[in-house]
Amino acid sequence: MPKGTTALDVAKSISPRLADAALVAKTNGDLIDLTRPLEKDTDLRILTEKDPEALEVYRHSSAHLLAAAVLELFPETKLGHGPATDSGFFYDFYRPTPFTPEDLEKIEKKMQELAQQNIPYAREFLPRDEGLRKFKGEGDFMKCHFIEQFTKPDEKISIYKTGNFLDFCRGPHIPSTGKIKAFKLLNIAGAYWLGDEKNPQLQRIYGTSFFSKKDLDKTSASLCRSKCGTGSSSASCGIRRHPAP
Ligand SMILES: [Zn+2]
Repeated sequence: MPKGTTALDVAKSISPRLADAALVAKTNGDLIDLTRPLEKDTDLRILTEKDPEALEVYRHSSAHLLAAAVLELFPETKLGHGPATDSGFFYDFYRPTPFTPEDLEKIEKKMQELAQQNIPYAREFLPRDEGLRKFKGEGDFMKCHFIEQFTKPDEKISIYKTGNFLDFCRGPHIPSTGKIKAFKLLNIAGAYWLGDEKNPQLQRIYGTSFFSKKDLDKTSASLCRSKCGTGSSSASCGIRRHPAP
């Protein structure tokens, strides 16, 4: 294997179809970006939507898409973190003005636009000082906290870029936003920064995403049944108006 070969190169050499379906790779027990150069001859699995592990990466990538959309619409927003959960994903935001249900609709629409633009999740490494300066300059106090807590001085920090949106994140992610086919924002909940009520209150936007519209609709309907008792389809249910769990 030539130096610099990526999992995507391997997938392409197997079949164009696999390269197209590939979402993330697994090597030595670690999930990695398809575009990360492989270090040496190693065991490698290419994961597609048939692999449950790929769904978590897909949902975390959906959280980045959510944050990118929020920043486009509400650039004053400060960023917390955005993990996948068992049933979807969330992202924590700090913004003095509360997001309204109408805002969620706008954000979801912006996410759709950004998905259509098929923007890559591009990884970069920045010197830690430079990363801290950048996030500090934008008032991103939560990102600075995470960088200080999870990296050491003199270390390069891992940044993912989705269009104009930069996130301090170790990844991995799916190749690009266009791979996200079916998603929905569900509701907003309040959460204190670091769980301490003396800290600013954050707005946690919950969403979910699936590999297919069919799976999304099925789950939205059952979420509705459990929350509002209607079991109506995702298009007509006002689930996002429900109070947070
Ligand atoms: Zn990430």
